[in-house]
Amino acid sequence: MGTPRPRARWLWLSSIALAALILGVLPTWQTSLSPAQRNIAVASAPLAGETASPPLMLASAVDGHRLACQSLHTLSCRKRGVTYDPTGYVRRDVQGELIVLRELDAIVRKHPDWTQEQTYDELTREVYRPDRRRRIQSAFLWVRKTLEKILKDQSGDAFNRYERAALFHRLRKVKLELPPPANIYADEPDLITKNGVMFESLPNGTLRIRVGGAYLSTATSWFNLVFSMAHEFGHSIDPCEVQDAKIRVQVYPKLVQCFTQNQLIRANTPEFVCGVHDQVSEAFADWLASQVTRRALDEFSKEYDSHQLLQATVNAVKDLCDQEESLDATEEVFHPAPQVRIDDIFGAEPGIRTLLGCPVKPYCSFDTL
Ligand SMILES: [Zn+2]
Repeated sequence: MGTPRPRARWLWLSSIALAALILGVLPTWQTSLSPAQRNIAVASAPLAGETASPPLMLASAVDGHRLACQSLHTLSCRKRGVTYDPTGYVRRDVQGELIVLRELDAIVRKHPDWTQEQTYDELTREVYRPDRRRRIQSAFLWVRKTLEKILKDQSGDAFNRYERAALFHRLRKVKLELPPPANIYADEPDLITKNGVMFESLPNGTLRIRVGGAYLSTATSWFNLVFSMAHEFGHSIDPCEVQDAKIRVQVYPKLVQCFTQNQLIRANTPEFVCGVHDQVSEAFADWLASQVTRRALDEFSKEYDSHQLLQATVNAVKDLCDQEESLDATEEVFHPAPQVRIDDIFGAEPGIRTLLGCPVKPYCSFDTL
């Protein structure tokens, strides 16, 4: 069961082949680690037919920054292939799915006598192995802490204490569901071969985030993970979810109005309508995730040179390029176009523009309404 509204929740991600190797040498990737400790050297070869990080093999960091200021979308999406930053890399969606299917194939060949259930259990253990689970759990906790800080940092004008308490309560209600045991995903068994991170709000009040198996074997970039997790977490307090929960947050209609005026979403009614081809939830989740990711980039910025910082920035949203090729029609209906998501929401976030040395533009915020 999902939400009552037909809203796309998937944030499709890209992947890597040697995640196991990398994560194997980083068994204690925790929120308590310093940026330097998380800054691991990544050794990986592209998969067959896959090109290596062309968008970031720029003639100079200066060129890259100039292009990033003009259009981060062009810089990120003009060429596809695996892209690297100091914490990891991001592959195409399809490559990640192939990796899981190969793992499945290997198990079937090795144990031809196993039942379907035994095979699925083993695949689940391989895909969701402890080092990968720890990494996802670390991101989950880091993102939740950062979202709480963002809400706390708003001036008293943004939320009254009841609204703030209600939003905090919803953030704290979100559970991360990761197998094993395999039966945790019994209602969505094909999730193990999918590349998404998904937020779901169930009719019984449960709020949960699930992670597709292909994702665990793919995106190792801390920045991609942070953006993806923050986007899904953001849905727990997005204007439509909050409206469904009968919580009134006075600043939200004004925020949606700002999104509309800045053409981040299609024109909506003055009071915005959720669930009818709206892009409110997705734009909000991107907008909030941009602010979270900016804090992750900030943390690393003093240790990275400008080229590394640019690589990290691109990898945070690199997978959004794949939305252009998605066969899922809901991607287009509910998500703003990739160019809007990358250039006008993520790439326009003032803190990110400052980090990249780009001129700051007007931006919607909780506080300046
Ligand atoms: Zn979403």
